[in-house]
Amino acid sequence: MSVSTVRSSLSLFAAACAAFSVVAAVAVAGEGEVAPPPSLDQIADGVWVHKSYKVIEPWGPFLSQGMVLEKNGIVFLIDTAWNDKDTETLLFLIKQQFGRLPFAAIITHAHEDKMGGVSALRQYRVETHALRETNEDAKARGLLRTQFSIDPARRYTVFESASRLNFYDQNYYPEKRWFHVFYPGPGHTRDNIVVYYAPAKVLFGGCLIRPGNATDLGNTADADIGHWADAVRAVAARFPDAEIVIPSHGAVGGRELLDHTIALAEAAANAQ
Ligand SMILES: [Zn+2]
Ligand SMILES: [Zn+2]
Repeated sequence: MSVSTVRSSLSLFAAACAAFSVVAAVAVAGEGEVAPPPSLDQIADGVWVHKSYKVIEPWGPFLSQGMVLEKNGIVFLIDTAWNDKDTETLLFLIKQQFGRLPFAAIITHAHEDKMGGVSALRQYRVETHALRETNEDAKARGLLRTQFSIDPARRYTVFESASRLNFYDQNYYPEKRWFHVFYPGPGHTRDNIVVYYAPAKVLFGGCLIRPGNATDLGNTADADIGHWADAVRAVAARFPDAEIVIPSHGAVGGRELLDHTIALAEAAANAQ
């Protein structure tokens, strides 16, 4: 099937999806818990947050957030939903919002909540990118890798707002930058990256940054607790103008989320 056929077939999918959403809304998951369907909400000029949920007993629906950026009609996705089905629904919401699919996506580390829907993206011909280490760990964790691996030597990357994705050093192409991808060293995982959109001062911190109501670091199974606080400090230093901070697992906040995460990480490191 050609790309154009796949893309035009999305309108068919859209009709099916509307019916699906109704079913999803009343579906009972786990022990009486309902997983809300994915959603897409604008939080700033050119910036949307996408939400999806996985029912994890005994806690119930567990939120994970990613980001969508749009500039001059070009749409870029940061992280998938939890699974392929919800990522397909997310693609429908994006198509509904922007009239087109994202041309590419980047994954912020190798866990299910960030890349559980890579297969859906590949099915719809969305270019998928991640750090080389993310793809190495994805394989070990039973996750599908992205099509493209980012060269570790170019971890500090600027995406150009072109119709096709290129990795440019901002020193060469400062006027073309759309958003920044920054690797601050290990924290939540060895491969966690953050994304910064300067025009709206929005920092997507992913699972490296904890929400304001978090009382601990969350999932530390693959964490480097000893380096986590330094990784967040590196993010804070790299993006001193960031005002809006998006964590994966809770409410969008401000720079206080960086300080809060540093405090949690230091407490956890001291307790080791
Ligand atoms: Zn994770
Ligand atoms: Zn997470």
